Amino acid sequence: MELIDIKSLSQNELLEYITKMGEPKFKAKQIFKWLHKGVESFDEMTDISKSLIQKLKEKFVILNVKINKKFVSKIDGTVKYLYSLNDNDLIECVVMKYLHGYSICISTQVGCRMGCSFCASGLFGLTRNLTASEMLSEITTAQKDLNIRISNIVLMGMGEPLDNFENTVKFLKLVSDENGLNIGLRHISVSTCGLVPKILELAEYNFPITLSVSLHAPNNEIRNRTMKINHKYPVEELIDACKKYFNKTNRRISFEYAIIDGVNDSKENAKELSRLLHGLMCHINLIPANPVKENSYKTPNRQKVLNFQKALTDLGMNATVRRTLGADISASCGQLRNRNK
Ligand code: SF4
Repeated sequence: MELIDIKSLSQNELLEYITKMGEPKFKAKQIFKWLHKGVESFDEMTDISKSLIQKLKEKFVILNVKINKKFVSKIDGTVKYLYSLNDNDLIECVVMKYLHGYSICISTQVGCRMGCSFCASGLFGLTRNLTASEMLSEITTAQKDLNIRISNIVLMGMGEPLDNFENTVKFLKLVSDENGLNIGLRHISVSTCGLVPKILELAEYNFPITLSVSLHAPNNEIRNRTMKINHKYPVEELIDACKKYFNKTNRRISFEYAIIDGVNDSKENAKELSRLLHGLMCHINLIPANPVKENSYKTPNRQKVLNFQKALTDLGMNATVRRTLGADISASCGQLRNRNK
């Protein structure tokens, strides 16, 4: 019999199993709390009887990630983990320290099938989706290792979260559960490269998360070159979905724009971008493109980035430049991959 992934269950689902086992209801809450503290085995649940632990072992499995390698930036203390999964697949995750606390960037898939040309995560396609429990474990494992409490989460590591929709939604519900990690949805950003139908589906949940759209281009001509997904969902359709998302959730959308030297950083590009986003309540996050050895894109110099930002703000747009963290450990956007070199 295949064991059930217990940490991906909601409290109510767990309650159903526990009562069917003839156990009192409150046991479900106790077990749920232990799981979300990041226990690695049922034996660590010290207030659960030996007989119930045995029953749990026969029916369930705890899916956790394990630290395979850890890299610490000498520049800013950013920590990147290479985690092994139960089936030995590898993923990466990054912990950053900000003034307001610790933030974690987690992976949602092993690899990615979206094939954005500037990104290392998609170089070898998609291996598999992560379960909600594995995503939770990326957080609990880092918290335990660093002895910290993480207060902000971005689903912006390896993978396209909305291509793993069901598990991502499950994760969002679990991570914000008051008996679990209890991280408020307002402190969570979910990125997408632009899966239009999934953006509309996510809007229906009305989660107070921040939707972070990887736009990276002001028009179809450039976006078709850098992001394969644009052939399926061109920018007009994407922006239309973003407008609908905002109308439903009333949450300001964040647009990620990786500035690639000589590709999407001209004054004309800034004008196009402001026309495209006109009337949409949003923020533009400018990211100097990070080098990946497999592509020939160049990182723009600081002045070019600032010029592009100024061009946008002069046009009335809300645009800031993202700080680059973990530059010496390839921990920045688009650099995460499933490798151990
Ligand atoms: S940028 Fe995101 S969606 Fe695109 S290939 Fe990389 S991980 Fe996938």
